[in-house]
Amino acid sequence: MQPLPDYHMHTPRCNHAEGSVADYAQAAITAGLDEIGFSDHSPMPELFDDNWRMRMEELDSYIDEVVTAQQTFAGQLTIRLGLEADWRPGCESFVRQLAADYPWDYLIGSVHYLDNWAFDDPDQRSHWDEVGVESVYLDYYAQLAASATCGLFDILGHPDLAKKFGHRPAAHAQPQVEAAEAAMLDAVAASGTALEISSAGLRKPVGEIYPHPRIVAAAAARNIPFAYGSDAHQPADVGYAQQACRQLLIQSNIHHICQFNQRQRQCLPITP
Ligand code: ZN
Ligand code: FE
Ligand code: FE
Ligand code: ZN
Repeated sequence: MQPLPDYHMHTPRCNHAEGSVADYAQAAITAGLDEIGFSDHSPMPELFDDNWRMRMEELDSYIDEVVTAQQTFAGQLTIRLGLEADWRPGCESFVRQLAADYPWDYLIGSVHYLDNWAFDDPDQRSHWDEVGVESVYLDYYAQLAASATCGLFDILGHPDLAKKFGHRPAAHAQPQVEAAEAAMLDAVAASGTALEISSAGLRKPVGEIYPHPRIVAAAAARNIPFAYGSDAHQPADVGYAQQACRQLLIQSNIHHICQFNQRQRQCLPITP
């Protein structure tokens, strides 16, 4: 069976991951993968909390370490160079410059912040009760749609991250949340951006792949392509639950997975 490229892994520069680039590459080979990509948390402008990302001064060492591994593992493993940037209104010019300045294979855009609140941070979880679950979801999907429309990103990361801790909209609010999902997917389709199918949610309280099967099916109906990511923060996570992600795609009538090279996308066929 042909493995899926795993395009979401981190390095210790973000202050919450462990293992060298070579350790992740070795783990990928052990897991039977033939292609991976690094997407560590990008430096961002001041409006973001600095503890959760590499500093601008670390960017060169990050790129050097990935390029060195590309050479070390040549012929065994294809290694792509990417970043996971945070989407927030106001970040556009910074990300556009970063995108232009370095030879990325792809950029992942992720919504982790709603205004100043990192809604997926366990330490800021109490804020959920103040904002209310329904309004978090509506705001989240509106921001995700905006992150697609801005045109800066190749892949949108873990695209229903709002469910991470298991918060669910009340039944009476569900139609409104699904309408926001549909509007988000229309924006993604119009922008030509890919979505990530991420196994990270299986390791979180929600215990589900991101995004929900309903969203995968609705994306398939719009011909939105998917890239796979484990969101590994340690080498053991590389390729995590790849088979479950593949099955969800195939059940949803999706038979291709994205490959990126120098920000050009290709579709690789997948089989069960
Ligand atoms: Zn992280
Ligand atoms: Fe993320
Ligand atoms: Fe990540
Ligand atoms: Zn992530």
